[in-house]
Amino acid sequence: MKKEIKLNVAISILVVIAVMIATVIELVSSTNALKNSLATNYLESNYNYSNKIAEGIQYVTIDLQHTIIAMAELSKSPHFDQNQLDILKESENGHFNSIFITDENGVIQLMSPETIDFKERETSVIIQAGRKINPDVVEKSLTTKKPFITEPYITTSGTVLILITAPLLNKHGIFEGMMVGTIYLENENAIKTVLSSNKYNDGSFVYAVDQNGRIICHPDTNKVYENVSGNSIVKAVRGGESGYQVTDEAGNEYFAGYSYIENLGWGVILLTPTSIIHGPLNNLVFKIITQSTLILLIILVIAMFLVKQLTKPLTRLAEYSERLITTNKLNHPNDELIINSNIYEINQLYRRMRIQLLKLNQEIQLDGLTGVANRKAFDIVINEWMEQKQPFSLVMLDIDNFKQINDTYGHLVGDDVLKFLTSILISFSREGDLCFRYGGEEFGILLKGKEAEKARSMAEHFRLKIASTESPTGKPITVSLGLTAHQPNDDTPKAIIERADKALYQSKQAGKNRVTVYRED
Ligand code: GH3
Ligand code: MG
Ligand code: MG
Repeated sequence: MKKEIKLNVAISILVVIAVMIATVIELVSSTNALKNSLATNYLESNYNYSNKIAEGIQYVTIDLQHTIIAMAELSKSPHFDQNQLDILKESENGHFNSIFITDENGVIQLMSPETIDFKERETSVIIQAGRKINPDVVEKSLTTKKPFITEPYITTSGTVLILITAPLLNKHGIFEGMMVGTIYLENENAIKTVLSSNKYNDGSFVYAVDQNGRIICHPDTNKVYENVSGNSIVKAVRGGESGYQVTDEAGNEYFAGYSYIENLGWGVILLTPTSIIHGPLNNLVFKIITQSTLILLIILVIAMFLVKQLTKPLTRLAEYSERLITTNKLNHPNDELIINSNIYEINQLYRRMRIQLLKLNQEIQLDGLTGVANRKAFDIVINEWMEQKQPFSLVMLDIDNFKQINDTYGHLVGDDVLKFLTSILISFSREGDLCFRYGGEEFGILLKGKEAEKARSMAEHFRLKIASTESPTGKPITVSLGLTAHQPNDDTPKAIIERADKALYQSKQAGKNRVTVYRED
């Protein structure tokens, strides 16, 4: 058997599927939209911040450069000595770790502080007057005769520093030495202050790389001076580009904004973990799912209400049709069932079905050959009349020698004889009398009223009429009849039918073609 499913279950499944599909579409489109807008936001704001930082570093380094240039000018005074250098250094608020003056060979002449003691592995390295600085720096100053900032480089002691230089030229433009300020990038200094001026508590961080792709400043100090020139952003920034992109670093995804620092050739990179948007995304997902659940519940309640509206009339219709077929009532009040659904199809179904059922109900109580009521109808009516204590008489009628008619003229003529007899029977019945084909060539007539005599006279007239009318055989036929009236002590139809049968039997016994009224003996 095909699996049956209840309408409310089917509708529920439909609703759940529809809401789920809508939710998934909503989830995908909303989260994508939010993801994109958040990502764009973070990327753009990181780009803007990295720009600010780059501008800050540029401003600071240009400022420091000017300071060194000014100091170089001051140092040309004939009375310039250690004391004055110390005062200049003091005035610089600790931007420089040291300031020194070299001769044309790069040998330190004056230095503030006077000595610096680097702890280099076991031994210590003392920097002071008389020490020669990196010849490349001297060479560059000599040839360019311009102030410049060196690339960050790492000393043997592991300190990453830059030198801010200005050439010392005499009035003939001859190179006589350099004024140099040192900045240890890892110590507190103006550049580092700018880089870390934004305190991030969302996992964002900023780092800077130099023109060679080495990290010069990073919250993780272990990374300082690491070569990251292979990194795509570092490549871009070294190429003078600024911008933003989503990037992968050490297995983590970041929204990156990066900016090129023009005067130094460095790059600033600001990274925010993309996981930052998980919170808002999860919130959105949670919100959509709770909303959808609520909508699902509301739709389900409405759907169940509609299903009930839909199935209630259908169930009533089914019950009604069953009652109509099985009940033992002949006539049904037409409007026993009033279905007034809001649904057009249901009303239509109801109207059609009621007409068909009423027709069917009539048909199953009619004899197919003669068109009079059948045995089923007979039983219904006799029961009904007895229930209603309706006085009546019963006439049972049987065609005489019908077998012989069939044998002589054939069954079709036999059938015609049955129809012929029926038509005469109907013409003889008064209003309220009911004729039935009881079975075969036997008929029953139920006559309303107390007077058994009237019934007898009707039966007699009918017998005479049949016996004198030409039947389809070409000759008249005869019938035998038995008659009885309903007695007050009859409580089932059986007793009456038996009496009428006995009377009919007596008519047959007495030679057929007669009416017998039942008598006790
Ligand atoms: P009796 O005078 O004693 O009543 O004899 P009968 O031949 O009429 O009675 P019997 O009961 O022996 O025969 C009845 C016959 O009626 C038998 C059956 O073939 C025939 N018959 C019953 N129903 C029909 C029908 O619908 N059409 C036809 N043509 N014959 C039918
Ligand atoms: Mg018979
Ligand atoms: Mg007969």
